[in-house]
Amino acid sequence: LIENNARQLWHPMAHPADMQANPPRIITSARGVEITDIHGKTVLDGVGGLWNVNLGYSCDPIKQAIKDQLDELPYYSTFRGTTNAPSIELAYELAEWFKPDGLSRAFFTSGGSDSVETCLRLARQYHRVNGQPERTKFIALKKGYHGTHFGGASVNGNQHFRRNYEPLLPGVYHLPAPWPYRNPFGTEDGAEIAAAIGRLFEEEIAFQGADTIAALILEPVLGSGGIIVPHESFLPLMREICDRHGILLIADEVITAFGRTGAWTGSRLWGIKPDLMSTAKAITNGYFPFGVAMISETIAQAFESNKNTLATISHGYTYSGHPIGAAAAIATLKEIRRLDVATNAAARGAELDQGLDGLKARHELVGDVRGIGLMWALELVGDRARKTPAAKDVVQKVQDIAYEAGVLVRTSGANVIISPPLVITAGDVARIVAALDAGLSAAG
Ligand code: PMP
Repeated sequence: LIENNARQLWHPMAHPADMQANPPRIITSARGVEITDIHGKTVLDGVGGLWNVNLGYSCDPIKQAIKDQLDELPYYSTFRGTTNAPSIELAYELAEWFKPDGLSRAFFTSGGSDSVETCLRLARQYHRVNGQPERTKFIALKKGYHGTHFGGASVNGNQHFRRNYEPLLPGVYHLPAPWPYRNPFGTEDGAEIAAAIGRLFEEEIAFQGADTIAALILEPVLGSGGIIVPHESFLPLMREICDRHGILLIADEVITAFGRTGAWTGSRLWGIKPDLMSTAKAITNGYFPFGVAMISETIAQAFESNKNTLATISHGYTYSGHPIGAAAAIATLKEIRRLDVATNAAARGAELDQGLDGLKARHELVGDVRGIGLMWALELVGDRARKTPAAKDVVQKVQDIAYEAGVLVRTSGANVIISPPLVITAGDVARIVAALDAGLSAAG
């Protein structure tokens, strides 16, 4: 398998030669919050798949819903003239779920990148429907991650994911990330940083012309860019500036929706209502590739009251509203609510915070600890005072030893990412901290 993997299978986000030098782990089974590799080694999944397996791997109600749906109707999508009962029921559930966020219509997709793309395209189309076709540009944040399609890559705030695929969408501008540890403002004060980014946003709007900007897209907590938690004033300020200039706000909640931050959505965490929201990942708990773009009442009204062909949504997927995905999502939402995973994420997150702070106190290698709910990062440094990122092999060693010690964590640059299922126990938190301790001791 390893040989064939290296010969035939190209992995996302990896150099082909890495597959020979560092063969990937072959995961063969999973139960609860644990995964087992081909050598029979079982570890705690400290990253919850790819931030999506929030309920762990043994959810009988979701499995049953999928099996029942397979027997009843394995495929028919919501493409133009057809629809299906699970999609209609799910759209109803989602309208209830996202009511506090001011979102009431669902557009189904096949994953996070598709949901982002849908939001970007609907934002532009909304302005056309609304008589402002020249509003086409997007503003985003450096360090933001928004998937791999050309639109998403264009608003992506990491050169690494852009460079090889240029030229990207024109008319995209990036503001600094609201990041206390590293920023161009010479301060670690989150409120000051938020205000400074607000001033840059205003300046960019004045320079571009507000009437040329379609939307601001951002993650309420930046995930793949290294878990950047903004100050509580940041999103309300961004919302206020957008409102003043007629700019839409797209919340990319592919990671943060459904409890990961300890709140039901990242938008609710910060008390804002976005115009559009991209979601995916946890909505089917990893059992089926599925996503949703949620749409506000104001945008919906603009489309629905306009009889012109401009308001036709010329965008969609073969698998929009896949009945198995929809059935899985309905069952997942029920389980998320029944288990109150957001409350558990907040409580376990507080314990994890304490444990990770303890690691920082003991290991010089840890430059910064940051996170919220159950999305955390340790940023590893070669020199604490100068904040020089730790060498790649050091970061890799921390991950490898942590795995040997029984926990899978992920690395991203000099960051070690910890994002376990939201159903972990206090004992699981202790396991994660102990495994990282072992990794840091060996690598430090
Ligand atoms: N947006 C965000 C915030 C993400 O974290 C991701 C995936 N990590 C995406 C979009 C893309 O989602 P997918 O990989 O399902 O296409």
